[in-house]
Amino acid sequence: MRLCRFDENRLGLVLADGIRDVTFALSVIPQSTYPFPRHDMLIAQLAEVQERILGEPDRGDRIDPDEVTLLSPVANPGKLFAAPVNYKAHLDEAIADEETFSRAHVRQIQETGLFLKATSSLIGAGSAINIWHPDRRTDHEIELAVIIGKSGRDITLESAMDHVAGYSIGLDITIRGPEERSLRKSLDSYSVLGPWLVTAAEVSAPHALDLELTVDGEVRQRANTRDLIIDIPALISFASSFYTLEPGDVLYTGTPEGVGPIVPGNEIEASITGLGSLKIPVEQAR
Ligand code: MN
Repeated sequence: MRLCRFDENRLGLVLADGIRDVTFALSVIPQSTYPFPRHDMLIAQLAEVQERILGEPDRGDRIDPDEVTLLSPVANPGKLFAAPVNYKAHLDEAIADEETFSRAHVRQIQETGLFLKATSSLIGAGSAINIWHPDRRTDHEIELAVIIGKSGRDITLESAMDHVAGYSIGLDITIRGPEERSLRKSLDSYSVLGPWLVTAAEVSAPHALDLELTVDGEVRQRANTRDLIIDIPALISFASSFYTLEPGDVLYTGTPEGVGPIVPGNEIEASITGLGSLKIPVEQAR
């Protein structure tokens, strides 16, 4: 199932020929009171939401996708956690030997670890990327984004994929420079998620997806998730050895080569096999 959030917090079912407004299905989410849970309640109830949608196949207006403003498919993630550069094309071609390579893999995850992006940086495909510091180089990074569906700590490699609710296209927008990643990657609008969530059941081979990012029509990044150095189960297992993963947490799996600068006036188009594509403008902030 493909689910989008749009306009004034409406929920949509994405179909081949348009969007069906299935906001009625949000009624399965339990009412809660302060202090609210530190996870995303839509993602936590995703199975029940889907069941409700399937139970009322004729309910909900059809909407033209071009007429809606897409929001992030996750409204309230507890955290955005992310892998640094995570594609083989970035490694020295010389370390092609499998044994050497597997040691490099282990070393890489131990050396660089993961990082967090502020949840306040998150936007959907219907927004714009704001350039807050035009004097600094700001780069695009396309990444497969994994949306966690089930809480867990010390998750094993074998069970890691059971914790995945679905996938989206992620853009990890980044100011280059010496400061900590959490600062340079957490500006408002610097985490794009969209255009919608595709449930895990619809993505049979998440490690064989083509990614492509263009800026003003020029291809900048083109890769396939088969070349991820640290794959999705390993990222989930590693992350959960440090912090509990919660429904709605978003994992940015790292970017392939080809990152480059963006400036106000650019338009980014990003696509991943089976997840759709999104177009987002780059604008001057303030
Ligand atoms: Mn990144």
